[in-house]
Amino acid sequence: MQNPMPRHIKLFIPGPVEVSPATFAAMTQPMIGHRSKDFQNLYAEIQPQLQSLFGTKQQVFLSTSSAWGVMEGAIRNLVAKKVLNCCCGAFSDKWFDVSKKCGKQAEAYQVEWGQPILAEEIDKRLATGEFDALTLIHNETSTGVMNPLPEIAALRKKHPGVLFIVDAVSSLTAVPIDFDALGIDVLLAGTQKAFAMPPGLAVFAASEAAFERAATIKDRGYYFDFLEFKKNGENSMTPSTPCIPLIYALRHKLGEFAAEGIAARHARHEKLNGMVHEWVRRHGFEFLAPEGYRSKTLTCVKNNREIDVAKLNSLLKSGHSMVIDGGYGKLKGLTFRISNMGDETEATINELLAALDDSLGKL
Ligand SMILES: *Cc1c(COP(=O)(O)O)cnc(C)c1O
Repeated sequence: MQNPMPRHIKLFIPGPVEVSPATFAAMTQPMIGHRSKDFQNLYAEIQPQLQSLFGTKQQVFLSTSSAWGVMEGAIRNLVAKKVLNCCCGAFSDKWFDVSKKCGKQAEAYQVEWGQPILAEEIDKRLATGEFDALTLIHNETSTGVMNPLPEIAALRKKHPGVLFIVDAVSSLTAVPIDFDALGIDVLLAGTQKAFAMPPGLAVFAASEAAFERAATIKDRGYYFDFLEFKKNGENSMTPSTPCIPLIYALRHKLGEFAAEGIAARHARHEKLNGMVHEWVRRHGFEFLAPEGYRSKTLTCVKNNREIDVAKLNSLLKSGHSMVIDGGYGKLKGLTFRISNMGDETEATINELLAALDDSLGKL
């Protein structure tokens, strides 16, 4: 079953990441009807594992979409008055844009790319009483900034009318995030990042307050209607036909997470991230994000040495069949990003770093 992967370029970009042969093999099971008992059994089987992963007693929903589907859905379901979009990079800036495209009143709390979102700044803005929702990207993948989620989530109690919507697309499974303990209202992730699955599936949980708000909103649409997810989920089903092979893959990955142990998984990401950081320092590079706010799943390296990043990447590709990311959007060439999320191990990160050493030497 588990054929070795065909020769390919291994992805060390921060998503999608490398998918294992075992994960692909898990997807090739016979098809089942999405309204069948077999499907309900599959759904019900993975539900407790998903709840434990999210740290929640709420249902965890499966959306056949990339993360943006749920990100847009959260805006459409939860914003009645005005949303505060915390913007610190490409994905979080885009969320502000999406809020406006959904026809919502929105305001950006914008920091420079590479800087973190700060709790006291959010507090000040929420104190105006203008807002009834907030969006935060926990791990801003474009800049390698990990925002201080516990401090920010602690504001939720102080501002009870404001629903906190959190994207953990590139951090969930890699670092501890406990939905119920944080007391936030929506937590979502896509599967092609830290889950190391193919793209096309998103997972999310919502609070009771989120469902109550959604019930007051008329134009929630259908595909991402949170109340449809809730109603169908109670019957171990999804609102529409889901991508069943990806759910097979998810079942496989959840089994792997349990076998590794979630604490060990977090520790592995921390360790591998530390190895990349050590490489960055050894070569005289700097980090885009300040100390204390650096992502544990990827490293955004500041190109202070002004190397030819595109050439580095082409040497890496031709010489070692690996690829890193050459910088996102306006940071292209000014930074480069190295992912350590998913199934990577000390051995594979060492291989990557040796390949980077070799390629750097040939620039
Ligand atoms: C990748 C990413 C997204 C977008 O995910 P899609 O799967 O392209 O919808 C959103 N937020 C963060 C933090 C990401 O890293």
